[in-house]
Amino acid sequence: MSKLDQIRAAESRLLLQTYERNPILFVRGEGVYLVDEGGERYLDLLSGIGVNALGYGHPAIEQAIAAQSRALIHTSNLFYHEGQAELALRLTERTGLDRVFFANTGTEAWEGAMKLARAHAGLLRSEGREIGTKFLALEQSFHGRTFGSVSTTHKAKYREPFGPVVPGVEFVRFNDVADLRAKFSHEVCAILVEAIQGEGGVRPVSHEFLAEARKLASSTGALLIIDEIQAGMGRTGKWFAYQQYGIQPDVTTLAKPLAGGIPLGAVVCAEEAARAIHAGMHGTTFGGGPLACAVAIAVIDTIEREKLLAHAAELGEYFMAQLRGLAAKHEAIVEVRGKGLMIGVELDSADLGKLTVAEMLKRHIIINCTSDTVLRFLPPFTLERAHVDTAVAALDEIFTQHAAAFSGAQNTSAAGGQSRG
Ligand SMILES: *Cc1c(COP(=O)(O)O)cnc(C)c1O
Repeated sequence: MSKLDQIRAAESRLLLQTYERNPILFVRGEGVYLVDEGGERYLDLLSGIGVNALGYGHPAIEQAIAAQSRALIHTSNLFYHEGQAELALRLTERTGLDRVFFANTGTEAWEGAMKLARAHAGLLRSEGREIGTKFLALEQSFHGRTFGSVSTTHKAKYREPFGPVVPGVEFVRFNDVADLRAKFSHEVCAILVEAIQGEGGVRPVSHEFLAEARKLASSTGALLIIDEIQAGMGRTGKWFAYQQYGIQPDVTTLAKPLAGGIPLGAVVCAEEAARAIHAGMHGTTFGGGPLACAVAIAVIDTIEREKLLAHAAELGEYFMAQLRGLAAKHEAIVEVRGKGLMIGVELDSADLGKLTVAEMLKRHIIINCTSDTVLRFLPPFTLERAHVDTAVAALDEIFTQHAAAFSGAQNTSAAGGQSRG
């Protein structure tokens, strides 16, 4: 039995069966490549779901981990260490917000933001303002898997098995300004938005919708909370996706790429929201530990030093132009969307989406398919044009060979017998 088969057998007995893993055993990474047990290299256009922003084995991350792990890994939040204020300064400078709370993961940051909104509304009520406790979230949203987060996550399959979820959440139709206006009232304590929905299919919110959300929230004292866990930290070519809109949130949440692969989340908020929180109301044992903070500082400084924002913007335009070229050639491609290195290719069939991911993997290129029909690309920011060309050529080949079998206008003679590998 191969090592991979042994592990698969053991996991199937020992783990909760929450994941459908691909049968590959990775043992290390180099730049934008993952390497499996047999030494085969895979071009990684997903970077661990948007986490490994600097790719694999970046010396800045290795050095930060080595130095900080020798010095100090954990202290708890009962004491000071050097990292939190230093990292918070970098985050407040870049977000245009005032204060930071460090958590460990995306969902935990999101829970913190939701609690902050409830506490802030309570403070406003105590000051005589009329504001309730309701959250408005968007259809197709994804904010995580813990109870508060999953309650604001739209897809029923994530929520319904665990019901009753947290009450007081209403979903607004995506980019439907009239629906937003109709559902907003003094009952609402926060409007919750991903500027570019990730899991929901790489869907950018419209400028009009985000501007209206900002205006409505400001009119009552409700908070506009923008989830930047996937789109933030430079992926779109600006530090935060909301900066593509020139609209400032009251609160934003960060995680995935924040510490380049070490778990770290953050809630970043304006002073007005922060005044609702005092000592003892919220906390975490691990959040903002010395190791994660040191690595996040190294990630931010590296993005700056290697000019990766401009690179993500420029390479993203190149990538999307190539994909639009493919879309002109293959009818199966419905739309190419995104910003910078957060890119979605919507197909006309879920089966074709599945098959494309599998065929790409056979060609040693890692992507995924989200929201059933949307191929998603979240590569490391260090990707180069040659990697884009490799991926686009592979997609071209796959669509040429297979798309006819799935499309409405089926060409049966072209559909059969060509599957490869
Ligand atoms: C991944 C994600 C989360 C949840 O993050 P976890 O670290 O998996 O808990 C929340 N919001 C968005 C937009 C995400 O992409």
